[in-house]
Amino acid sequence: MKKIAIIGGGISGLYIANLLRQNSNYEITVYEKNNTVNIEKGYGIQLSVNSIKLLSKIGFQNINLENKFHPNKVDFYSLKNKKKICDLDISVFNISEAKYTTLQRFVLINFLKDRLPNSLINYNKKVTQIDYETENIEVKFENNESIKCDYLIISDGVFSKTKSLIAEKEIKPRYFNSVALRATIDKNDLQGIDSSNISISLGSNLHSVSYPVDNTDEFNFISILRKKLSSKEFSDYSLFEDKGFISSILSEISEQVDPDIIKNLKNIRCFPIFVSTKVHQPTNKNTFLIGDAFFSYPPTFAQGASQSIEVAHELYKNLENENNQFNFERIKRTRMIDWKSKFNYFAFHLSHPLTIWIRNILMKYLVKNKNFINNYLGTIYKN
Ligand SMILES: Cc1cc2nc3c(=O)[nH]c(=O)nc-3n(C[C@H](O)[C@H](O)[C@H](O)COP(=O)(O)OP(=O)(O)OC[C@H]3O[C@@H](n4cnc5c(N)ncnc54)[C@H](O)[C@@H]3O)c2cc1C
Repeated sequence: MKKIAIIGGGISGLYIANLLRQNSNYEITVYEKNNTVNIEKGYGIQLSVNSIKLLSKIGFQNINLENKFHPNKVDFYSLKNKKKICDLDISVFNISEAKYTTLQRFVLINFLKDRLPNSLINYNKKVTQIDYETENIEVKFENNESIKCDYLIISDGVFSKTKSLIAEKEIKPRYFNSVALRATIDKNDLQGIDSSNISISLGSNLHSVSYPVDNTDEFNFISILRKKLSSKEFSDYSLFEDKGFISSILSEISEQVDPDIIKNLKNIRCFPIFVSTKVHQPTNKNTFLIGDAFFSYPPTFAQGASQSIEVAHELYKNLENENNQFNFERIKRTRMIDWKSKFNYFAFHLSHPLTIWIRNILMKYLVKNKNFINNYLGTIYKN
């Protein structure tokens, strides 16, 4: 019997726990620092076909149809002239058992959590120290408790403290010079879009995305704004909860986004965007990083959760085959998706009228070009 400790009960930690528990040779426990998993309601998540296929291995297709949505297209709009630029058919990558899906984040987390026995998740367990012994790994928690395990899976998110502990130096993600504003909005308050698709509106140094999260009228709204902040500002998390700061972000966004939309946003939250600078490989052969702790991407390909699920699945397969290392292909894939997410960010945020004009012409052509679509999206969506 192998003892496996999973640090962090987010999407990646809960997904790998679901996979590993299928094998009775593993004794697994998830250690989560908070007193519950994060089931905050209201915010959406997009899952592309590559991760839906992997989620189907644990019964995701049985989620009630009411609680998810399958958009067929991504519609691109210009914020300047309010006109549609083009549309991209994402349903071409759908297969009968796996379709591009949007849903509320808590629906996914609840699905992953509810399939696990309660006793498998230990709450209020914040890791403070990792000691490598000859035979096993000792994990110490804030409350002076400790456990021993054979394998350690680190899935404690983008600010992973456990990653710094095993590297014996502080590893910080990089501030991506951008702030995200997330909110919900009623379908009827979004005029001039096709409400059965994902809408991406491109502005200058800003883009916003809206999509249905289920079969009610609730939509997820997110705006990503290029914004330089001092290191003092982005490390002070209370700033992002400050009403004055949120109002200033809203007023910057409303210079381009329809004020009627801004007025109707609900559940508004602001946060800085952080990304990884490189893939960190643990030196101990029985320690693994997955999810945002492994690598955190800019949000402009909506691949963070999908990649968290992919990497968790790959690690599960590796453990089953007693192969302890992610291979070179995973590092290559991570770099490719990171590059494309950054390229999307660049293209979505252009501000010079001439480059915008060229971009729009190119986009109209490329979204209908099968070779381009297969190369740009297919290499990510077909895993
Ligand atoms: C603006 C924005 C929009 C996004 N939209 C999408 C999208 O549409 N589609 C998509 O695929 N992805 C999206 N993502 C990315 C996605 O949300 C993340 O990639 C994903 O949630 C990562 O999951 P995770 O399990 O690695 O980390 P998390 O979900 O962050 O979970 C980490 C868990 O570890 C716990 N923890 C932290 N420290 C400790 C510790 N020391 N000890 C124990 N537990 C600890 C935390 O409490 C948490 O429960 C978006 C991200 C951003 C920023």
